[in-house]
This record gives sequence, C-alpha cells and structure tokens, in this order.
Amino acid sequence: MPRPFNFSAGPAVLPEEVLQTAAADMLDWHGSGMSVMEMSHRGAEFISIYEKAERDLRALLAVPANYQILFMQGGGIGENAIVPLNISRGGVADFVLTGSWTEKSFKEAGKYATAHVAATAKASGFTEIPDPASWSLSKDAVYLHICSNETIHGIEYQTLPDLKALGSSADLVIDCSSHIASRPIDWSKVALAFAGAQKNLGPSGLTIVIVREDLIGHTLDICPSAFNYELVAKNQSMYNTPPTWGIYVAGLVFDWVLRQQEGGLTGLAAVEARNIRKAKKLYDYLDSSSFYSNKVAATARSRMNVPFFLADESRNADFLSGAKARGLLQLKGHKSVGGMRASIYNAMPEAGVDALIAYLREFEKTAA
Ligand SMILES: *Cc1c(COP(=O)(O)O)cnc(C)c1O
Repeated sequence: MPRPFNFSAGPAVLPEEVLQTAAADMLDWHGSGMSVMEMSHRGAEFISIYEKAERDLRALLAVPANYQILFMQGGGIGENAIVPLNISRGGVADFVLTGSWTEKSFKEAGKYATAHVAATAKASGFTEIPDPASWSLSKDAVYLHICSNETIHGIEYQTLPDLKALGSSADLVIDCSSHIASRPIDWSKVALAFAGAQKNLGPSGLTIVIVREDLIGHTLDICPSAFNYELVAKNQSMYNTPPTWGIYVAGLVFDWVLRQQEGGLTGLAAVEARNIRKAKKLYDYLDSSSFYSNKVAATARSRMNVPFFLADESRNADFLSGAKARGLLQLKGHKSVGGMRASIYNAMPEAGVDALIAYLREFEKTAA
C-alpha cells in the first residue's frame, strides 16, 4: 500500500526513505547495539552523527565559515525571545509584519528590546509583502526581523531585502522555519537565520540557528544560560543535552536533499527546481478555476504553503472528507485564515501535487 499524501503545515511530511532508514536503525544504529535515542550525546557514535549533520547542513546551505550553526531547543516561538535576548543589546529592533508569525515575533521582542513596526501588510489581510522601498526603518535599529515564509498566510519573499542598499546598517534576521532547505539563502544579506525543524527538516523539538560570529557575545544578563548563543556555540550545541533524535533525523534529511537529482541539477538546486514546478502547477490550477481561489499577490506566493478557498464554503467539510478518503491528508486551513491549505514541502512528491489537482478538478465538477 502506498502511503497517503500528507499536506500538514507542521509537523509535516518527511521523505519516505528517511523514515525507512530511521526505522531500520531504530533498535541498533550501525552495529552499536543502541538506538540513537539511547546514546550519550558525548559518545563517539552520537558525535559522528552530529558532525555529519553539521557538515551536511553547512554544505547544503553554503553557510560561510564565519557563521556558527547551533542546534537548539525552544522552537521558532522560543527564538522570538532568544534572538532579542542575544543580539538586541536592549536597543531597537525593526519588524516587517506580513502575517501571524511576524506579529508574534514583534510582540515577544518588545519584552527585551524596543520593537518597532517598519511596515505592515495587515490592511491587505496579509496577502502581500510591503515594498522594501516604503519601509520606515529606525535609524538606530540593531536588527530587522522578517519571516521569509509566512506559513499561515502563504507569503514568501522571492528575494530577501538588501538592508545596506536601503541605507540601513541593521542586521537582517530571518525566521525561515517553513522554507529552510527549499531554496538557497543569500548570506550576504542575512546575519541570523532560525528555523524550527518540524516543517521541512525533521521532527519537532529541534531548532536550527545560523548566526554570524560577530553577533555572538552580546547576550543580556537575564538570558537563560541554555539559550545563550555564546555558551551554546562554545560547547558545540552541547551546553545542555541537545535534541539528539531531532539532530539524527534532520541529518538523514540533509543527506537526502544533498543526493537529490533533477534534470542535471543536484542537491538543493534539484529540490528547488522541483519545488518551483510543484507550486506553479498548483497555483496555475487554482487560478484557472472559478471554484477555487488563492488571495495572495502573485509576487508573494509561497512555494511551500498554499492557502486556498472554495467558492462555496458550505462544501468545506465534504471537500475534506473526500480528500481524506483519497489519501490526501491534513488539508484544513489554519483557523485564523479559514479555508484550505496545502503545504507542499520538500518531501511532498510531485505525484502528491498531481493527486491533489486531480481531486480539486473532480470535486469542482460535483459542486457545479
Ligand atoms: C511553525 C512556525 C513557528 C513556530 O514554531 P514552534 O516550533 O511552534 O515554536 C515559527 N515561525 C514560523 C514561520 C513557523 O512556521
């Protein structure tokens, strides 16, 4: 029996091959006689898992040598506090509000820094990204925070803002939780990127922080030690016990991404090409139909999270039960937006998008 296609926004689909490897390793990892969950994080076995994961992620995202990769806990929501605790120095931080996640980040940062809204797309119902040329940047901001992919509203920056070109000396912080490893990151523009693992990388419980070294070492005294980037970095993410299982599974996913091939491309380039094709197919179908709609501006549409609505919302429950019966799972939209949402992360096969489109077409006919 093939597995159903899982469109959950997170925790979300993983490559089937990764799940199979994890299952085969479950009782005995590589002849060690131990499950990865049972290993000391300081033993040679786990250290080898950790080092390969770190190396593969660095290669995958072309992370420069002057950036540290930290494997932490606390999730994206934890980082909303951990980032200002570590890098704001109690000063000013600018925020561009493009949806629920940046609204949350802005609110939390205000506890530790002077948080300022540089721009907001609220008036549009969070269906667009305000033009960077119109942002009101604080003169003295230490950093500017954006969410490079708003998971709930389905908005994605197609290019990251160049703060220097906008006349700002602030460092750019990106919450890339829901599209990390789906496309390259331009490190010439980004000082700090963070991501919870459970959207595109692995199980929940692991948070990845990639931070330029000069931002480390300015932590506020009130920051809990386990969340102090300097202590975490100095201890190779083992100041406290790291989320070992999460690091192991994410490591399998990094290895999987690096091995992908697509029309002469390999690794992240191959995965990105597939993601572009998958998203285009789905948006093209939604746009061609008068029964379905996606309200996000064409220039800001996410490749990963596709919210959409039925013209007749009284059919929502029928739509979801029919989808489930066909092995198309977890398509219900977030409660704050309503409607439907198809999350089509790296691990969603193109066949899953094809099956979804076939079902959309079939359902539309029954609704006519
Ligand atoms: C899911 C998500 C988060 C929250 O992650 P938690 O692990 O629940 O803390 C933060 N930001 C974005 C963009 C997300 O998609």
